[in-house]
Amino acid sequence: MMKAYYPETLEEALEALKNKDSRIIAGGTDLKLGRTQEGSLIFTEGIHELKKITRRDTHLAIGAGVTLSMLLEEREIPFMEKLVRSIASPGIRNWASVGGNLCNASPIGDLLPMVYALDGRVKLIKKGCERLLPIEEFILGRKRTALEEEELLKEVVIYCPVEGYKYFWIKISGREANSLSKVNSFATYKYEEKKLVDLKIAMGGLGPTVIREREIEEELIEVINRGEGVEELEVLFKEYQKLFRPVTDQRSESSYKLGVSRKIYLNLMEYILKDK
Ligand SMILES: Cc1cc2nc3c(=O)[nH]c(=O)nc-3n(C[C@H](O)[C@H](O)[C@H](O)COP(=O)(O)OP(=O)(O)OC[C@H]3O[C@@H](n4cnc5c(N)ncnc54)[C@H](O)[C@@H]3O)c2cc1C
Repeated sequence: MMKAYYPETLEEALEALKNKDSRIIAGGTDLKLGRTQEGSLIFTEGIHELKKITRRDTHLAIGAGVTLSMLLEEREIPFMEKLVRSIASPGIRNWASVGGNLCNASPIGDLLPMVYALDGRVKLIKKGCERLLPIEEFILGRKRTALEEEELLKEVVIYCPVEGYKYFWIKISGREANSLSKVNSFATYKYEEKKLVDLKIAMGGLGPTVIREREIEEELIEVINRGEGVEELEVLFKEYQKLFRPVTDQRSESSYKLGVSRKIYLNLMEYILKDK
């Protein structure tokens, strides 16, 4: 028979996770339970320790239980409102959690490009130990994470300085509201005395995981600082595109996703050049 647990502390949740076939439910908006009648469901909604957002100097730690609606209230994070308002609908956002979005490891999860681009690390916890993994090592593939038995995601830490950076978020989907992404992208960049000093780009929907390629970012910084034009940027894009492996699915054809990825890239370049 299936059992349900309603822990109020992390300690209680970790204890419940020791049960065989246990499954965490945060908001429950992304669950496919299957037909099993066995195992246990652990509802983490009541755990306050998972619902904190803490600024640590240039970094922000966001608890796994923070809902998308709670993120909307974070007016200090410059990009958050635009990003979160593009996800689902107000009703879903009241339940949907940050942890659920990340642990679902969907190639089109809308928080993932932001976490990749902002050098995100996840804090995983199980009884007696904690570990911190870069997001690239946490997401192993489509719907696959490095979460171990009896382990849960506690928080995600992102690099998020308040000043100096510009942010770019774009989501291509069938409708403006309540619609999953076909392709999405989050980027951030910074100029100092007319020199581009930092650029981070993450693209979702173009492979089993979000794509972030630091070598391309470094080359782009050089090309832009040299004052090269669109032609040179197109050459670099051809290199970048070799990493993309989109699949045709019910939302769109792979060729459409490739075409749209070029437009997103050029759109981002336009923003960056305009700010020079
Ligand atoms: C109508 C609709 C529209 C949607 N639109 C979007 C959209 O536009 N963009 C988008 O990205 N998503 C969308 N989603 C998907 C979903 O709402 C989000 O991914 C949401 O953030 C999932 O959070 P949750 O708390 O509901 O996860 P849950 O359903 O509770 O959990 C999802 C998975 O994560 C695991 N999990 C959750 N928390 C933890 C934890 N702390 N530690 C370990 N494992 C954990 C669960 O066991 C489960 O496997 C939509 C869903 C619906 C139903």
